[in-house]
Amino acid sequence: MRCPYCRHADSRVVDSREADDGQLIRRRRACPECGKRFTTVEEAVLAVVKRSGVTEPFSRTKISSGVRKACQGRPVDEDSIALLAQRVEETVRAKGAAEVPSHEVGLAILGPLRELDQVAYLRFASVYKAFDSLDEFEKEIAALREATDARDARTVREETAARDAAVRHAIAPRSAGRTSRINSQQ
Ligand SMILES: [Zn+2]
Repeated sequence: MRCPYCRHADSRVVDSREADDGQLIRRRRACPECGKRFTTVEEAVLAVVKRSGVTEPFSRTKISSGVRKACQGRPVDEDSIALLAQRVEETVRAKGAAEVPSHEVGLAILGPLRELDQVAYLRFASVYKAFDSLDEFEKEIAALREATDARDARTVREETAARDAAVRHAIAPRSAGRTSRINSQQ
């Protein structure tokens, strides 16, 4: 590897370390010419196979820019987009294949995007699933409504349970613990 300081054509590895659970290897290198040190990162290339059969390296930046486009004008910040792109990459890499079809990458985006912003999700889904009629939008919106209602119901249930538990805790007599200990000894 060429030295980034003096452009000398070769360098020597002085240390190798795994990072990210073995997904990456970081190498510390030294230049025999100028003596400076630098680090390189080695990572297996994940290829995305497009519908045309052409492959290209997986790019988190590309995921982010696609999602950013769908989120235009929506209250979604850059951090959330970066986090989503990271989740997508983890999902895709977790499959353990060296090549993934592009539609699987799209699928991996849909789930987290739906949680992030429903309007952005609809925009993305309409392109990804190639909606060509209002019916398809209506169906997707109906599915979104159902999922949202189910989630709201679950949240309300959880909040009620947490509140009940807190109330029980607050009104429990101080002697309750002692009583139960006495009981358990009997
Ligand atoms: Zn050098």
